[in-house]
Amino acid sequence: MQSAAIRPIPNMLERNLFNEEHEAFRETVRKFYEKEVVPNIEKYEKQQHVDRDLWNKAGDLGLLCTTMPEQYGGSGVDRLYSMILIEEQAYAMDSSTGFSLHSDIVANYINNFGHEQQKQKWLPKMASGEVVTAIAMTEPGTGSDLQAVRTSAVLDGDEYVINGSKIFITNGYLCDMAIVVCKTGNNEKGSANLSLIIVEADRVGFSKGKPLNKIGMKGQDTCELFFDNVRVPKENLLGMEGMGFMMLMKELAWERMLVAIICQAGAEAAFAHTVQYTKDRKAFGKPIGSFQNTRFKLAELRTEIDFCRTYLDRCMQLQLEERLGIDAAAAAKYKISDMFSKVVDDCLQLHGGYGYMLEYPIARAYIDNRANRIYAGTNEIMKELISRTL
Ligand SMILES: Cc1cc2nc3c(=O)[nH]c(=O)nc-3n(C[C@H](O)[C@H](O)[C@H](O)COP(=O)(O)OP(=O)(O)OC[C@H]3O[C@@H](n4cnc5c(N)ncnc54)[C@H](O)[C@@H]3O)c2cc1C
Repeated sequence: MQSAAIRPIPNMLERNLFNEEHEAFRETVRKFYEKEVVPNIEKYEKQQHVDRDLWNKAGDLGLLCTTMPEQYGGSGVDRLYSMILIEEQAYAMDSSTGFSLHSDIVANYINNFGHEQQKQKWLPKMASGEVVTAIAMTEPGTGSDLQAVRTSAVLDGDEYVINGSKIFITNGYLCDMAIVVCKTGNNEKGSANLSLIIVEADRVGFSKGKPLNKIGMKGQDTCELFFDNVRVPKENLLGMEGMGFMMLMKELAWERMLVAIICQAGAEAAFAHTVQYTKDRKAFGKPIGSFQNTRFKLAELRTEIDFCRTYLDRCMQLQLEERLGIDAAAAAKYKISDMFSKVVDDCLQLHGGYGYMLEYPIARAYIDNRANRIYAGTNEIMKELISRTL
């Protein structure tokens, strides 16, 4: 198997987001992936989820919920630390770990909208890896159109009774808790009908399907969740009833950035592997990297990758200043995930037949990358959002 330890080639325009502390953290994350994840990727792919104790190991090193306040078990640091965690996952060419969804999405919902008791109950355990979490929005009948959600939560005394099912849920198989998007009330209030409810996985009536058989990202646990008269105390409501859609909207720009970050770093990793491969592989007595077609193709890819990097880092700067617009984040998600797909396709071509073999990281990147254009809002929905601002 070709080594997954090739580092990305520095960008043509030097990046200026990180300081020495960030770089020291990057080193910790890099070593974690190198030691704990990369040697086990094949195993994770066979079992279709990571080992449960990987979460605890990540928690012990402070790699989960890093941006959460210290009083709730986090390190209280800026979101560049999340960026570093995601980049190092991509540079390790891993698609098995679902840490970002847990740390950068679920934890944010609890921290932003939860009451004090919910924060104290969940965030420290999420930061230590004792609790694994998921967010369950998509249903068999609806994904892009969240207002059509059918899973219902009906108040019965002091409890919500939840019925319905969710599909394609990342971390679903190992999760100890899920934030579930439910329809509350029977009226036709559209988005004002949606609420977010915390559901513990050991509640009676809550069951999980087997990990779904995906074409790629095989090591990441993705499954169906079923709710059959699941009763939860009404204190499990996150924020206010009917405010679910508003809460989902609040962090959407950041969620799209998470996908853009993984795609950008994934493209940089695929490119670095390919440059190395074209130096090593010979045809007609010369390295294939010496052919003009190879050199021009690599020059084109480098240019596309670096243009996207500049846009993304600028978006990240605006994100840190809390000034990133929904349209700019949507553009980053759609453009950079499209770019990633194009880059891995061209990189695979430069690997010849070996690019089609799964023991080469480029082959896995080719099938893994595809989901990025679908989840966190499809790229068509991203274009819809951008067009609405015109
Ligand atoms: C690996 C993976 C992990 C996932 N993880 C999660 C998770 O953790 N939690 C979760 O809730 N969901 C998750 N999802 C689900 C994902 O968010 C949805 O698949 C996605 O939002 C699309 O919804 P859908 O599959 O129902 O497609 P649909 O909404 O049915 O879309 C089908 C096609 O129609 C197009 N379309 C739909 N509406 C419009 C429109 N208005 N204008 C133009 N085109 C349109 C779409 O772009 C798409 O091409 C995951 C999916 C995958 C593949």
